[in-house]
Amino acid sequence: MQLSKRITGLTGGGSDGWDVYYRAKQMVADGMDVTQLTIGEHDIGTDRSILDAMYQAALAGHTGYSMFNGNKNLRDAVARRVSERTGVKTTPDNVLVTPGGQSALFATHNAACDQGDTALLIDPYYATYTGTIRGAGAVPIAVEARADRLFQPDPADIAAMANGASSLLINSPNNPTGVVYSGETLQGIARVCQAHGLWLISDEVYDTQVWSGDHLTPRALPEMAAQTLVIGSLSKSHAMTGSRLGWVVGPEEAIYHMGTLATHTTYGIPGFIQEAGCFALAQGEAFEAQVAAPFRRRRDLVLGLLAGQTTVRAIPADGAMYIMLDIRTTGLSGEAFANRLLETHQVAVMPGESFGKAAAGHIRVALTVADERLADAIGHLLSLAGDLPRESR
Ligand code: PLP
Repeated sequence: MQLSKRITGLTGGGSDGWDVYYRAKQMVADGMDVTQLTIGEHDIGTDRSILDAMYQAALAGHTGYSMFNGNKNLRDAVARRVSERTGVKTTPDNVLVTPGGQSALFATHNAACDQGDTALLIDPYYATYTGTIRGAGAVPIAVEARADRLFQPDPADIAAMANGASSLLINSPNNPTGVVYSGETLQGIARVCQAHGLWLISDEVYDTQVWSGDHLTPRALPEMAAQTLVIGSLSKSHAMTGSRLGWVVGPEEAIYHMGTLATHTTYGIPGFIQEAGCFALAQGEAFEAQVAAPFRRRRDLVLGLLAGQTTVRAIPADGAMYIMLDIRTTGLSGEAFANRLLETHQVAVMPGESFGKAAAGHIRVALTVADERLADAIGHLLSLAGDLPRESR
């Protein structure tokens, strides 16, 4: 039987970018001791208190159908959080609860784009972005954030691609680079969106992981609340990746229609998960800071280990749970380097090429294992990088 082009063409014909990750998983399954620095998964599980809240909620009967667009108490909690942190008035009618940020990405592109429309995104990008856009029927067009600008996108480059486009997807703090977009970058982006009538889809799932200054949301910029759809999630902020709990914040009309999409796709999120989400949000900023702390500490650890050598250069990472390393002096592509590192040192990292073209010759290191193991893995990485320039000359 013939399958639809939409589903068979989701990855755009190439690999889905996760080859090294799959290889590493297979090696682990074969009994090898591999250090996994690939995916953005905390090394702590979901906190016991959140699991208790989930269990109690299930016992209390939150096991039936829930509100397809999110229960009122959770939408209230998200709206309060967003209002307090951004200063933008936000009500429960501005909030749609989704099964994770991933589903929110799909909903927002469905809201912003008609079939065949251009959806802009910034390269390097989180590996699912292009497939999600295609799944919504739109055409992903990447605008490069260049390595020589330390991966801050240039609004002029976006403007050059914006004619006729419907949306622009940005992500700060950024996966894969760890870069936090400056106020100037965000203001420039907002001006482009206003000039070209673009929906700005702002993926802020790492908003609690910012190492200097405060998290900035473009929704708070003048006039931008009317055309910005913000994606949030408890996956990274509360180590709740498996709970699949996220949201979209946006104008009421957009939220209403995405709610209709939810009725016809997800039909809501389990009530006991939503109750656990309410409990998690009520723990406040101290809890979130505790979840974020290891990533900052490990970023500093890696920077310390890289000091005093010039082969591997770190991209200044001000947020998120990753650090991007420029390995171009080795003469290898990010993909070749990652594969070599896996084969010879049993350390798995993501090639920059998994995230588009702009991060070619880079690798992304997820700061997701205990400090000692991470330090050991960086030692291996430096040892390989140190050997390579001689080899490839
Ligand atoms: N957006 C970015 C930038 C991510 O890195 C991820 C996950 O790693 C997601 C969205 C999806 O997160 P979730 O669906 O777990 O909320």
